[in-house]
Amino acid sequence: MSQRTSRPDPQIPWLAIRATAARRFGIQRFRPGQRELIEAALTGRDAIGVLPTGGGKSLCFQLPALFLRGAVIVVSPLIALMHDQVRRLEAANIEAARLDSTVAPADQEAQELEIAAGELDFIFITPERLQNVEHLQPLQQREVALLVVDEAHCISEWGHDFRPAYLELGQAIAALGHPPVMALTATAPPQVVDEIGARLELDRPLVVQTGIERENLFFEVIRTVSRPEKEQALLQLLASDSGSGIVYVATVRRADELHTWLRQQGIDAERYHGRMSKAARASAQNRFMSGRCRVMVATNAFGMGVDKPDIRFIVHWHYPGSIESYYQEAGRAGRDGKPARCVLFYKLEDKRIRSFFLGRKGPRPADAMKLLKALSELTSTGKPISMSALAEASSLHPRRVTVLINALEELELVERSGRALQPIGNLRPEQLDELFGDFDAQHQAERDRLEAMIRYSESLECRMQLLREYFGEDRGHPCDHCDNCRRPQERVHDVEPAPVETPTETKSQFASGRRVRHRTFGEGEVIRAEDDQIIVSFPRRGEKRILASKLRVI
Ligand code: ADP
Ligand code: MG
Repeated sequence: MSQRTSRPDPQIPWLAIRATAARRFGIQRFRPGQRELIEAALTGRDAIGVLPTGGGKSLCFQLPALFLRGAVIVVSPLIALMHDQVRRLEAANIEAARLDSTVAPADQEAQELEIAAGELDFIFITPERLQNVEHLQPLQQREVALLVVDEAHCISEWGHDFRPAYLELGQAIAALGHPPVMALTATAPPQVVDEIGARLELDRPLVVQTGIERENLFFEVIRTVSRPEKEQALLQLLASDSGSGIVYVATVRRADELHTWLRQQGIDAERYHGRMSKAARASAQNRFMSGRCRVMVATNAFGMGVDKPDIRFIVHWHYPGSIESYYQEAGRAGRDGKPARCVLFYKLEDKRIRSFFLGRKGPRPADAMKLLKALSELTSTGKPISMSALAEASSLHPRRVTVLINALEELELVERSGRALQPIGNLRPEQLDELFGDFDAQHQAERDRLEAMIRYSESLECRMQLLREYFGEDRGHPCDHCDNCRRPQERVHDVEPAPVETPTETKSQFASGRRVRHRTFGEGEVIRAEDDQIIVSFPRRGEKRILASKLRVI
């Protein structure tokens, strides 16, 4: 496999690490998964960490960075996230470089000189910059002790946050001599974890996957049949609590409309979507983050950089395209650990909006032909070919170009030497089938994800159990922090009248925790007894209220 250039550091006593965590970051106890990831970094082992939003992923590289000899490079998809990280490190008295498009060229050059000279160890960089040899060179002069890929799920072409530049991280890692890699994300079903490992060419990575559950979040679905009904539900929610929150909508138009409507209702709302100017977006975000406005109406463009601890509710006006997106967006609530609501407004007709988005996705055979034509035209000029030149020449969207090039590369129809692309061989019709069969499979995967989201919305089962199952965990017990668990329990009516036992007898017979059996529901566990009725939790059916005479203690 890959060759390692950096040496694992000698054993560092865990006590020293804990002391540093307390002194520099004010952290008393590690959260689940943190210790394993920190140890992997300190011993030079590749690792993939799947920890929930707010679970403390940053500490997993910030802390080892203080002990490692060599540079720590953090690849981050968003400039806002990088700003935030650098600010937090500065608060802990740690100097960090930030290499992104907003840094003035002179500052950038100064930082790169310092990096090359070994004077700056902490480097935040966007994946796009790593594609560029010029920016890679100063890093190549350093021994890289750890390369962190934050929000690593962006690498998945099957995922909802796909970022083409992430696909090329494997090459950047190779160019840096295969340093140990730590990939971090909040949402990765098993196949995405595999995909991260494969794309980054990780060497037998340690996979640390803590549960997805956040007990302070209350999950609920409100069924609505019309827009006025959604509006009323939203007003009710806003009246029931004074906290602030985000309302996610699927389209720019609805964001504008809902924002206007909320303002008419006297609610201090801001809005955020991709069609606003950069300045308008920044100002809206600032007002919301600093607590000066209560509600943010946004499309999913308002996302990854949102690290406001006291968000009390996340409302989804339309259901998102996948459970991954839903859980990630909903997970922005209650980062401070205090109770928060995650409310999904469900209206079946919203499916139209989703289908519209689904319909547009995925390159078509004609796109591949256009791209190959542009590629051969550009090749005849003899100059090295870049992705942006290709996008221009083929008049395809850059994102589509990257997806296609990667596919063509896998079919060995395009070759890369350094940054330059070269066509080799011709596209045969059966290869075209193979290629688009793959795209169709992706399209199907998207449909499947949408179906799962709809099942979640319509289900009467414990929502956490569904989520756990979806993310590949054990179903476990009903969570008691979702609407379905809290709904008044369904009463099981039986035909024969049952003799009523005295409460004391019943109580001792059906003490909480006892295992019982019911003819229809099978084995379960007693939660508590109430008169002649027993509340029992059944693994597959959830909680039921059942007459004592219908249960057998086992
Ligand atoms: P994410 O996993 O979403 O990237 P962050 O790294 O941004 O989460 O951490 C979220 C918050 O939790 C931060 O304010 C961080 O300081 C805090 N945090 C991280 N680890 C711990 C810990 N072990 N104990 C207490 N707070 C922690
Ligand atoms: Mg993070």
